Amino acid sequence: MSDDCIFCSIVAGELPSHTVYETEETLAFLDANPLAPGHVLVIPKAHHERLDELPEELASTVLETLYQLVSPVETAVEADGTTVAFNNGSAAGQEVPHVHGHIIPRFESDDGGPIHAVAGSPPNLSDDELETIADTIADRT
Ligand code: AMP
Ligand code: ZN
Repeated sequence: MSDDCIFCSIVAGELPSHTVYETEETLAFLDANPLAPGHVLVIPKAHHERLDELPEELASTVLETLYQLVSPVETAVEADGTTVAFNNGSAAGQEVPHVHGHIIPRFESDDGGPIHAVAGSPPNLSDDELETIADTIADRT
């Protein structure tokens, strides 16, 4: 637990939340400033800041919880779909430094965009540049 982390405080029961699902290692609760009715956050109970800092098994457990919740969330609010995403790091808009996945119900009429809209101006990359980037990522896996 991190002392000044609001999500750790929710896990510890020191802050209220509208909990929707809980496992030994994960907690899911309603976002306090929802982008849609049924906007849910899924967190590991243990404090880790970024997705890539989670132990591998815990990362799988968080994904499992997200997976378990997508259908209940959609049916509960009669959504047409969901955007499921992590803001990973402050450059990506992560404001709460305790890793959390968003499940945001989507509706045909919600005027929202696809996840492609989040990255600002997309670069125009050549095939050679794509190949270099792909190789560089592959070298690090
Ligand atoms: P992010 O920008 O990905 O870090 O998102 C943080 C999310 O946490 C935002 O959507 C906030 O509305 C939400 N949030 C902040 N404080 C609370 C809280 N006490 N309970 C529930 N959700 C919260
Ligand atoms: Zn925390």
